[in-house]
Amino acid sequence: MNPERRSIDLVEHDEPELAEATDVRLRILEVGVCGTDREIAAFEYGDPPPGSDHLVIGHESLAEVLEVGSGVTSLQPGNLVVPMVRRPCPHDFCRPCRSGRQDFCSTGDFRERGIKHQHGYMAELVVDDQDYMNLVPEVLRNVAVLVEPLTIAEKALEQVEHIQRRLPWGTENHRAVVLGAGPVGLLGAMALIVAGFDTWVYSRSPTPKDKAGVAEAVGARYIGSETHSADQLREEVGNIDLVYEAVGASKVGFDVLSVLGTNGVFVFTGVPGRKAPIEVDTDRLMRNLVLRNQVVLGSVNAGKGAFEAAIRHLDEFNRRWPDAIGRLLSHHPMEAYEELLTGRSGGIKQVIDIASPAS
Ligand code: BGC
Repeated sequence: MNPERRSIDLVEHDEPELAEATDVRLRILEVGVCGTDREIAAFEYGDPPPGSDHLVIGHESLAEVLEVGSGVTSLQPGNLVVPMVRRPCPHDFCRPCRSGRQDFCSTGDFRERGIKHQHGYMAELVVDDQDYMNLVPEVLRNVAVLVEPLTIAEKALEQVEHIQRRLPWGTENHRAVVLGAGPVGLLGAMALIVAGFDTWVYSRSPTPKDKAGVAEAVGARYIGSETHSADQLREEVGNIDLVYEAVGASKVGFDVLSVLGTNGVFVFTGVPGRKAPIEVDTDRLMRNLVLRNQVVLGSVNAGKGAFEAAIRHLDEFNRRWPDAIGRLLSHHPMEAYEELLTGRSGGIKQVIDIASPAS
């Protein structure tokens, strides 16, 4: 993506070489395409690395280790890995980054591969540091490209768990609503079901048959926002203990925030484009927040623990619902990049196949 020329092209790069002892050389196998990639391709988001006129996009990836530096202890050629997206800022005083939690970076000078100031993974070969690699078992070869989108839910759930320790009498039988039936929403619904929540998926998709089908196949209930207002949603669900927002539309988010239940938590994970302001009933929201002990939080990106949890849970989803997991994925060759990034996409998660292992 070249923001100055406003173009999306396939470009030739020199083959990357190991530079540090802790580097690994990767062959990229698959890259998922998400809303952030489409925004970058529309020149609304994303920044090239300093000194480069373009950004190689792609941050949801699955790779095979080809070569390891002399200081690499945890990986060997042939291993499958999913790399982390966000990299720490350089400042000594940034405690989150210095503690390995760059997903909480306090300076904003973090980098994100394929998004902000560092090239991403829509490339044949990449060199990266072992610290950001997450080893994936071979049995997840066909689904591991879903690890990164699942980490969004894993981090959110980790935060919710901390928050709900304020309810020491227990949170069994709690009810969760997922907003949005894209991959981040559906994977989040699976994570919530595994965590023991009664789960509803509330989506605005006009013809959501395949998405509703996946939601129902994993044991969630699907409710369309065209047929049910937020108040009707609350009537169906009862006390909404948790909302996991994965729709990126602030109107839907704030409508549902107004029906959040007593002692409920609302997690925003979407990054909406900037549109005209909308009217919100702030008295209703504020009264509910106070009188019902509610918590609203935003959650971005993910730490190492969320990647590890995503790999464990994906294995569990794949055993429980192999068919539903398979229905999330549509594979395409590299040549389809333009249509995938700028066209209307059918299916749920579009994946570009870059190489097969040891090909
Ligand atoms: C990525 C996150 C990233 C966010 C904002 C999302 O698509 O999954 O890792 O932090 O975009 O750049």
